[in-house]
Amino acid sequence: MEMSRRQGAQGVAVPVSLIFNIDYTPGNHYLYCMERRIRHYPDPFLRQQSEEVSEVDGSIQDLIQDMFSAMEEERGIGLAAPQIGVAKRVVVVSIEDKNFSRLALINPVIVHLSTETDVREEGCLSLPGVNADVERPVEAVVRGTTRNGRLVEISARGLRARILQHEIDHLDGVLFIDRLTTKERKSLEGELVDLERQYALLTSS
Ligand SMILES: [Zn+2]
Repeated sequence: MEMSRRQGAQGVAVPVSLIFNIDYTPGNHYLYCMERRIRHYPDPFLRQQSEEVSEVDGSIQDLIQDMFSAMEEERGIGLAAPQIGVAKRVVVVSIEDKNFSRLALINPVIVHLSTETDVREEGCLSLPGVNADVERPVEAVVRGTTRNGRLVEISARGLRARILQHEIDHLDGVLFIDRLTTKERKSLEGELVDLERQYALLTSS
């Protein structure tokens, strides 16, 4: 998930990431970007169901590290493994909060959602330049496994709860644009068509 310009962590504006944000300087992380680049809408990979992780081994630790790197490079606040092309049920979250600063959750499951909802603007690193108001439950209880193999249950409220819901949606191939009102979705048509054109260009070369 991506902070919108309006939200910004602790009031600091965070720029919306650009689609061609790849560093071409030889010998640096260009190859890394190609390997673990963030998939953009309408990449069909984003629509698939991710698999449960059966064992928290070295490959999962590497994946989590790559996810934190990719997310922080793009100044995101949450990322799901399918966004970097890995269909595994792993999410990472990083927000400015002493209780919850940097968290990786493996096989996260939502066990409770409040009936109370609120509406906040969301963005997504897989939909650069697209922001919209999304209604979601205010509270979520999520169970999962930490990178140390510890089973945890997290009660989250507000932004934390929202990020977890947004990222867990990715594991089931759901994007925040699927949760918009018809009117809101219609207002984004131009931006989505632009992303579809850019994707077609990238995949045709
Ligand atoms: Zn997202």
